[in-house]
Amino acid sequence: MRWLILSDIHANWEALQAVLQAAEGRYDDIICLGDVVDYGADPKAAIHWVRQNVKHVIRGNHDRVCSGGEGLDDFMPLARQAAIWTRNQLPESDLSWLHGLPVGPAELDGFTICHGSPADEDEYLITPEDVAPLRQSLERDVTFFGHTHLQGGFTVLPQRVQVIGRCAGAVEERALEVKPGDRYLFNPGAVGQPRDGDPRAAYGIYDSARRVFFQCRAGYDVTTAMAKITAAGLPSRLAERLFDGC
Ligand code: ZN
Repeated sequence: MRWLILSDIHANWEALQAVLQAAEGRYDDIICLGDVVDYGADPKAAIHWVRQNVKHVIRGNHDRVCSGGEGLDDFMPLARQAAIWTRNQLPESDLSWLHGLPVGPAELDGFTICHGSPADEDEYLITPEDVAPLRQSLERDVTFFGHTHLQGGFTVLPQRVQVIGRCAGAVEERALEVKPGDRYLFNPGAVGQPRDGDPRAAYGIYDSARRVFFQCRAGYDVTTAMAKITAAGLPSRLAERLFDGC
């Protein structure tokens, strides 16, 4: 089975379309690791697309907050403003769909999916020190996570945790082999708001039979996504960071 793995779409329609075009014909089904909405200008379109096309989706912290769940008070002012704007754009049916999304982790096709970490959807896995305490609780060889908007992840070896970098430079794809005996935490990166220094939309494709994960990037129409954010009256920093990719 070949899975298209999307995370942190964040209501960025242009980025999502570019990813789908680039990945066309290369996957059998789609997984979303949460944060369908918030920050971007197209929350309704993003939700409707996910509802129609994604086989397995779990909740992200922004999906929770935008649909009235806890956490708004913990957001920075910029994120709070965007979350309130997003909530106001959505009809009741979309809010209740968001609110009802299953909370990760979930087990599928021999691997685990989660938003932040398998232990907590709000936890950021950024350094090997963040990952080391999870060692005993990783039941599958492969776990996919998002939330940090950083493509890459970690290889959990018996003695240490090794950082996996991103698909960098002009390269649009990098294959990572899953070796027997090691444990992997893969972050496909953010479709809609990359923060790893590369403004291209990030995603992944996992071939569960061949046990190969492809890290991928796709350039998209950043200018249009930025203009929509500005026109919506959302904070200008949310547009600028798409251009910067951080
Ligand atoms: Zn996110």
